[in-house]
Amino acid sequence: MTAGVGRFAAELRPLSASSTGGKTSETLALIDWAIQTHPDLLMPSAFNLNGVVLIDLAVRAGYRGQVVFVDTGYHFPETLQTRDRLAARYSELEFVTLNAGASAQDGRTPPELYAANPDACCAARKVAPLQEYLRRKNPSALLNARSRDQAATRAKIPSVEEGSSRIKINPLAQWTRQELEAYAAEHDLPVNPLYADGFLSVGCWPCTRAVRPGEDARAGRWAGQGKTECGLWAGDGKL
Ligand code: SF4
Repeated sequence: MTAGVGRFAAELRPLSASSTGGKTSETLALIDWAIQTHPDLLMPSAFNLNGVVLIDLAVRAGYRGQVVFVDTGYHFPETLQTRDRLAARYSELEFVTLNAGASAQDGRTPPELYAANPDACCAARKVAPLQEYLRRKNPSALLNARSRDQAATRAKIPSVEEGSSRIKINPLAQWTRQELEAYAAEHDLPVNPLYADGFLSVGCWPCTRAVRPGEDARAGRWAGQGKTECGLWAGDGKL
């Protein structure tokens, strides 16, 4: 087990669904532990609802590190605007954009590879740039915003996840979407405006649609393509 994980390696005690305040306190305590134990901590982010809430909580807990975003060249303008609004609001953080200025026409992957082979497209445009960056920075831990209720495939995410080269700390693992929405509203957070149009999880525009009533939050990602993850958090090349 990675040194220092002990206190949080087991699940945090069950949190009251009716008490976002109590859940916030537990989450701040976990992030504080992460900062103290892993001063080289990094936070990758795609600036979805979860990510925006995590950024706010992390700043409250004292995080002053990097927020790393991968520009695949296929992001919605609203996502890039959300990044810029967050960077302006949280000036104590360093927002890093990998592949800054990437475009769908940059020749890095064949046109419409996303349709023919989305795994290859994600691997080249999203996973590889972040893996390369992490190889150089070599942080001992990552702060990640995934939560269990985003999708059935995420239903067992632990608060602290062991990895071969670094641990992943998932402070929002036990937050529900309703709690995240309530927190964002209470703190007037700059949520991606596409969220209000049903894009509960926003990825690249060729691979994201609005979610229909009754679907889970990530049902609009690669819909109908038999793919549920980009490869950053699951699969052979996961972080
Ligand atoms: S989400 Fe779609 S467009 Fe974006 S990198 Fe993956 S396959 Fe390519």
